[in-house]
Amino acid sequence: MTTFLIATRNRHKVQEIRAILGEAFRYLTLDNFPGAPAIREDATTFSSNAALKAEGLAKWLAATPAAAATLPAAGDLLVLADDSGLEVDALAGAPGVHSARFAALDAGTEGNSPDAANNAKLLRLLADVPAAKRTGRFRCMIAVAPVAGRGQPNGETRFFGGVCEGRIATEPGGTGGFGYDPLFIPNGFTQSLAELGEETKNRLSHRAAALIGMRMELLLE
Ligand code: IMP
Repeated sequence: MTTFLIATRNRHKVQEIRAILGEAFRYLTLDNFPGAPAIREDATTFSSNAALKAEGLAKWLAATPAAAATLPAAGDLLVLADDSGLEVDALAGAPGVHSARFAALDAGTEGNSPDAANNAKLLRLLADVPAAKRTGRFRCMIAVAPVAGRGQPNGETRFFGGVCEGRIATEPGGTGGFGYDPLFIPNGFTQSLAELGEETKNRLSHRAAALIGMRMELLLE
């Protein structure tokens, strides 16, 4: 059985990834590797940032015998990284790759911003934008990197993308999910992802689209 090391400290992402992929795989998270290095995500595309995370951690695992002791003895081992974000048409695609630190960009500070600050900034920038022009989408890029010596036929990183189209609400709604979920209404619905809840989100999200493609490819091999 393949084991995924899910390369994120975002517990919501971990929960969604596991729920979408299900029981066909085994999972480890960064909680299993407290010594894992923090990886700087300073590339300009979702795929490059996902690759930085997946390949950075795969290299660290291969070079760190103490970490290897935590790994299952048998089966393929893949590092799975998710880089994702929101693109808003009226903002020329912003916040995009800066989604996690959208509010902090103004202050010029390092690190991610609280979700509430990012959502407040988005609503402020869209205050005068009418309903028909509040279109946008979530994008997710999954990068899967093999760990050297752990059973993959070739050493290449593979990429799986997913998109969820929708529009930005005029006020937050709901308590589920994370990030911009309270403001994002997927096409075909009248409620935000945070109102629709985990089960519905995990059927239609950008993350689900990317991971379902990945699962099909891996299970067919
Ligand atoms: P990353 O961890 O660098 O990929 O940053 C992703 C950021 O994009 C998150 O912090 C959220 O602000 C936003 N985002 C990505 N996926 C979702 C989602 O499923 N719902 C809501 N916000 C999301």
